[in-house]
Amino acid sequence: MSRVVMKFGGTSVADLDRIRNAAQRVKKEVDAGNEVAVVVSAMAGVTNQLVDYVQKAGSLYDLREYDSVVASGEQVTSGLLAIVLQEMGINARSWLGWQARIITNGAHGSARIERIEVDEIVRRFGEGQVAVFAGFQGVGPDGRISTLGRGGSDTSAVAIAAALKADRCDIYTDVDGIYTTDPRIVAKARKMDKITYEEMLELASQGAKVLQTRSVEMAMKHGVRVQVLSSFEDKPGTLVVDEDEIVEQAIVSGIAYNRDEAKVTLRKVTDTPGVAASIFGPLTDAAINVDMIVQNISADKKTTDMTFTVSKAELKRAIQVLENNAGLKYESLDSDPSVAKISVIGVGMRSHAGVAQKMFSALAEKGINIEVISTSEIKISVLVAEEYTELAVRSLHTAYGLDAED
Ligand code: ADP
Ligand code: ASP
Ligand code: MG
Repeated sequence: MSRVVMKFGGTSVADLDRIRNAAQRVKKEVDAGNEVAVVVSAMAGVTNQLVDYVQKAGSLYDLREYDSVVASGEQVTSGLLAIVLQEMGINARSWLGWQARIITNGAHGSARIERIEVDEIVRRFGEGQVAVFAGFQGVGPDGRISTLGRGGSDTSAVAIAAALKADRCDIYTDVDGIYTTDPRIVAKARKMDKITYEEMLELASQGAKVLQTRSVEMAMKHGVRVQVLSSFEDKPGTLVVDEDEIVEQAIVSGIAYNRDEAKVTLRKVTDTPGVAASIFGPLTDAAINVDMIVQNISADKKTTDMTFTVSKAELKRAIQVLENNAGLKYESLDSDPSVAKISVIGVGMRSHAGVAQKMFSALAEKGINIEVISTSEIKISVLVAEEYTELAVRSLHTAYGLDAED
């Protein structure tokens, strides 16, 4: 007997037929004698619709009310799946975040799970009951519904798997595994049998939305065995594992893109000690995340140009913060939301030279200009004009020898 967590994403519960399909998969695990916890997302498109309602209802909306609205999609699917399972003769009940005591911090809109009280769930496993959790939600210290950020049902699943000490955490989705890049934009993307936690963490944080970044962080920390697989086809997916489980490691294992960032340039900022702090301090105070940063020294050594990226959603606020900062002297402020960040990722980079050079020359060959560069131990990211996103990803996929054979 194993204890398994099964998570179904939005397209896997998009209508009643798909919920029945998910229920069949649950039944298989139950019939095999396993203890089963299920985590569901809202039906595909529902969360977007709910977010849209909130944004249209008020511009400076209360995040606690946002959470109350956007968490509702998962309430529907968890109840429906429990009903369908009961129809099939399976003992099942739904659990909302607050009922399951999924305790988060107070950061409404992108809360972090702090702990989960699973005693009651485990007791009910003993009675043969399947637990169907509404993903994406918990309860904050204020006793109000919280949500975990977009794509957060993955994190719900991994957190529940960790709390239950589950043997497996299976993430059922609309692709049959983790690919070398998004298979929806590169037809030659290759499915991987295994990927390391670290590489998946970089892929996710650089934009591959197949797993939410926090879910990978949590899986890595608690050693949760995560598998990404198709809810529509019966075949093995991709396992996320420790580095020592991978025999042959490619230098570059994946490519990610992110169209959610915007570029901001401050021209001719007075170049004195503390200038960076005076730009980024107020942005941090306003809870605006800055990602890539470059600073150019100008010829006169008195002024400098500073370029950085923030998320598109926060661009307006970032500009406001900078413009309201009377102490900051600069000539002009430009912003450009039409950019994309392209990242190549691989643990093999640690021990191989020339990886960056290959990236730069592959992009140059296609006439793609690089606007900003940033690197980490196992990742190189560049910012390019948004219109080149697909061309850049495809060219790099070929340049690093990742294309699947026909
Ligand atoms: P779900 O609703 O099941 O959570 P998501 O839409 O959040 O599904 O994530 C699955 C999607 O992630 C796929 O449809 C695919 O387009 C995208 N994706 C991006 N990068 C990758 C990758 N490297 N491998 C697999 N899928 C990827
Ligand atoms: N329904 C939520 C979203 O669309 C959570 C999830 O699907 O993981 O972001
Ligand atoms: Mg998702």
